[in-house]
Amino acid sequence: MLAVSAGCLFAAACGPATSHPAPPATAAPASATASSPVPPPSPTPPTGSATPEPATATPAPTGPPKFSATISRVARDRLKYSWRPGCPVPVRDLRLVTMTYWGFDDKPHTGELVVHRDAAQDIVSIFGRLYDWRWPIHKMELVDVYKGSDFESIDADNTSAFNCRPATGSSSWSQHAYGRAIDINPRENPYVSSDGSVAHANARKFARRPVKAPGVINPDDRVVRAFERAGWEWGGYWSGIKDYQHFSKSGG
Ligand SMILES: [Zn+2]
Repeated sequence: MLAVSAGCLFAAACGPATSHPAPPATAAPASATASSPVPPPSPTPPTGSATPEPATATPAPTGPPKFSATISRVARDRLKYSWRPGCPVPVRDLRLVTMTYWGFDDKPHTGELVVHRDAAQDIVSIFGRLYDWRWPIHKMELVDVYKGSDFESIDADNTSAFNCRPATGSSSWSQHAYGRAIDINPRENPYVSSDGSVAHANARKFARRPVKAPGVINPDDRVVRAFERAGWEWGGYWSGIKDYQHFSKSGG
């Protein structure tokens, strides 16, 4: 079950408020309203149970909070390193998703991601599922915390989405530059070159699939299927290079 707290869920909700004219009042004949008897106030119903209140209150429910997420516009100064003029998506089309995630420490945390506004609801729905499964995520911070360095963010095992950068080994924009791709637990789910090499030493033991370990994404597992249900594709299915951390809306 997904609980989304109040926020800017849809693009329309983020725009200027539109004022809807009030419908014309249907004027009832004065005589009709005047003759309508006002019902007497109903008496206070008796309390359902005669059992006295117990002296000790019911213990407060324990356990982790339910998943919650907000989607809001993102301020330019939050994207100091990850966005610049010339990027393929304007800042106004990006959204900051603030949501709970389950940590490797077996505790709930609050993380932040920036995605395209047309991807935000998918991300909230999918991460709501991951949280309900207690599927662990190591860290979820904007890549700006790492001064926009994809390498540093990956080295820190940070889950992130928007970053205005070219695709790895290419001069064309990555889907991350559109906010339509996300990298999850990049240490446990490394980018593996076609020769089998992994750029991050701390990720080498995760270079093959399947791997049974927390936060690992394996072929056709529930994480892959949750993204697929929303129409996102997994980089672990690419031929040649494998990008086990990567999901994108376009498949690229
Ligand atoms: Zn990626």
